[in-house]
Amino acid sequence: MLPVVALVGRPNVGKSTLFNALTRSRDALVADMPGVTRDRHYGVCHLGARPFVVVDTGGLSGVEEGIDALTAQQVRLAIDEAQLLVFVVDARDGLLPQDQGILGELRRSGKPILLAVNKTDGLDVPQALAEFARFGLAATLPLSAAHNRGTEDLVAAALPLLPPDEDEPPEHVEDDSIRVAIVGRPNAGKSTLINRLLGENRLIVSDLAGTTRDPIRVPLERDGKRYTLIDTAGVRRKARVEEGVEKFSVIKTLQSMAAAQVVVLMIDARENLADQDLTLIGHAVEEGRALVIAVNKWDGMDSYQREQCQRTLERKLVFVDWAKTVFISALHGSGLRELMRAVVRAHASATHPLGSADLTRTLEKAYEAYQPPLVRGHAPKLRFAHPGGANPPTIVIHGSRTKHIAPAYRRYLENFFRKRYKLEGTPIRIEFRDGE
Ligand code: GDP
Ligand code: GDP
Repeated sequence: MLPVVALVGRPNVGKSTLFNALTRSRDALVADMPGVTRDRHYGVCHLGARPFVVVDTGGLSGVEEGIDALTAQQVRLAIDEAQLLVFVVDARDGLLPQDQGILGELRRSGKPILLAVNKTDGLDVPQALAEFARFGLAATLPLSAAHNRGTEDLVAAALPLLPPDEDEPPEHVEDDSIRVAIVGRPNAGKSTLINRLLGENRLIVSDLAGTTRDPIRVPLERDGKRYTLIDTAGVRRKARVEEGVEKFSVIKTLQSMAAAQVVVLMIDARENLADQDLTLIGHAVEEGRALVIAVNKWDGMDSYQREQCQRTLERKLVFVDWAKTVFISALHGSGLRELMRAVVRAHASATHPLGSADLTRTLEKAYEAYQPPLVRGHAPKLRFAHPGGANPPTIVIHGSRTKHIAPAYRRYLENFFRKRYKLEGTPIRIEFRDGE
């Protein structure tokens, strides 16, 4: 399960700049998709050997409002769920009383704290750090988030402070089942769907051991296919493990997505598509997950309402037009066969084996049909391609001047490859490399 790191500190110290530096997409998968919403507060950092969730807790004002600010729900939730707190201070402001106040609150949590002294660009670094030595924090690092200096060191310092990566239970290592995360806003119908899927198959939810923090994995067999449902809320409710009132947690959603191969995003057909839905789609895409959109509560809607709903979705979800939209009623069990077929299809696309020779031939065809615009009289050259991984299918293209390739051309190539290999339900990652 992905560990969680929370960035805390006064407003304006550079937390969101640091957040962006830590979570920027490896290859602009999202940047290339106009319309996709990037979450400003939650992301996954892939800069180190082990990915982790990063939460930007926003500004805490410190002493005067210290406790009030800290009881703000999202901040508290983030600090509660975090395994490491990165306390960001501003080297230019020096040590302020508010910083002391915030540190006091952080210490009370008993969690490890890493001090990031930001904005050290143009300053005498040892001197800048010396001022904060009074905090008595062993782990202190200079940083210039705006210039992306010190971020890799920060990640390197953070990783050993995280709880050890527990090995996956062995049955999951050899497992050939499709790992599916069912995510969505509260009330979309996630637990109804999961109960339906499990109930119909009279599957016994047997081993729900583990702490309440872990996403639960439940095996499911249907039409001869094996799945592992990864869920944090729905399954647990079925098993009647009391957990109090459930709060929607982006962190848990991100953790489920990370553990899955295919994400089923559930939306309620009777509600408008919310920013939060788009943000969840953004997360799934950014993590390269295969995606199926399940529009639930399709029962009891008349044909006019259905048409309106379909049209709105088509318009708002153009940026993931490769993802299949399935209309279901979790309550009545309709559309579930189609849903699971879409999951299997998306998984097959996401893990479709690609060969270098064929990729290169396809690249040549795409290049012949349409070349990237000239850059100062020279055309970027694309020479050959090879596979760079699955889930998402990754295509590495070697050439020259590839930095100048515009997002529109990248999308053209993506669509070309998508058609050639009939890749449905998965994002495709294209990486350009210059030289050779
Ligand atoms: P937040 O309120 O803590 O999220 O702070 P922001 O990330 O919004 O940054 C506040 C301001 O500090 C912005 O104007 C940033 O451009 C600037 N800033 C952030 N990091 C650095 C840095 O490393 N060096 C300098 N000189 N400015 C920075
Ligand atoms: P979750 O919070 O996403 O797990 O949502 P639930 O599964 O708890 O469902 C929320 C509410 O929507 C419950 O009252 C369900 O009975 C209802 N619901 C779920 N699926 C359907 C459906 O397909 N049709 C209708 N009409 N109601 C549904």
